[in-house]
Amino acid sequence: MSRIAYVNGRYVRRSQASVNIEDRGYQFADGVYEVCEVRGGQLVDERRHMERLVRSLTELRIALPMSLTALSVVLHEVVRRNRVMDGIVYLQVTRGVARRDHAFPAPEVPPSVVVTANRLDVGRAEALAGEGIAVITVPENRWDRVDIKSIALLPNVLAKQQAREQGAREAWYVGRDGKVTEGSSSNAWIVTRDGKVVTRQADHGILRGITRTVLLDAIKAKGLDLEERPFTVAEALAAREAFLTSASQIVMPVVRIDGHPIGNGAPGLLSTALRREFRRYSEVS
Ligand code: PMP
Repeated sequence: MSRIAYVNGRYVRRSQASVNIEDRGYQFADGVYEVCEVRGGQLVDERRHMERLVRSLTELRIALPMSLTALSVVLHEVVRRNRVMDGIVYLQVTRGVARRDHAFPAPEVPPSVVVTANRLDVGRAEALAGEGIAVITVPENRWDRVDIKSIALLPNVLAKQQAREQGAREAWYVGRDGKVTEGSSSNAWIVTRDGKVVTRQADHGILRGITRTVLLDAIKAKGLDLEERPFTVAEALAAREAFLTSASQIVMPVVRIDGHPIGNGAPGLLSTALRREFRRYSEVS
C-alpha cells in the first residue's frame, strides 16, 4: 500500500492523508483520474496518460491543477518515496472543495489533487497471464461519455463485483445491439479464426485505453490484420483468441467468456506474443 501520498501540495503519510468532506469528488464523483504503469521505477507512457488527463479535464471544464511538468515531478516523487519499482501510480483530480451544490462552484475553487503509488506483484501477474482469465458479459448500463476517464465508476464497481462473484476477473459490457463495448476497467479484443485482430473503435462508447493505443502501433508495425469495429458476443465465443488491455494488466489473455472456453481454452499465441511486444512500443520516463 502507498505509504506516502501527495495531497493538495503536500507529501503526507497515507494514514494521515485526508480530503475535505465537501470535496466534489467525494460528494458528486466530480473528477477524473489516470493510472500509469510503473516499470523498473519509471512511468510507462506518461505522455499519453497526461494527454488523456488534459482531455478528460477539458471535457468536464476542470482546470489543470498545475503544469504538466510540475505534475510529472509529483508523479515521479510519489513513486520514488514509496520505493515502487513495479506497480502503478494513481492520480485523481476533482473540481475541488465547495459547499454542496450540484452546479459548479462560483467563484471557481482550486481543483484537488491526490497521487498514490502501489506495488504490483510482477510474478503473480505473469503467472496469471500464463493461465489466462475468465470474463463474464453484463448489459451496458453506463452513460454515453465513457471516453472521459471520470471517477464516477459505480456501474464499473457493480460489474466487477458480479464478475468476482462468478469466479471471473473482468466483466465485458454488451450494448443493446449485442456488441461488446469494453470491460469494466479494460479494453476488449478478439482474434478471429482467420487471424484478424478486432477491437471496438474508440468513440464516445469506450475509454481510449493507452495500452490499446500503444498495442495498435505494435499490431500495425507487425503488419497484422486489424479491424477497429464492434464485435458481438457470438463472435467472441467463436474467436480463436480473446484478450484485454489496461495499464495495470498490459495484455491479459481471456480463456473463458460466460463459462465457454475460447479457442482451445488456453492463452492464445498472438495474445501472448503481443504481451511481450507491448514493451517495444511503450515509452518510459
Ligand atoms: N476501459 C476502462 C473502462 C478502464 O477503466 C480502463 C483502465 N483505466 C481501460 C479501458 C484501459 O485503459 P488504459 O489502457 O489506459 O489503462
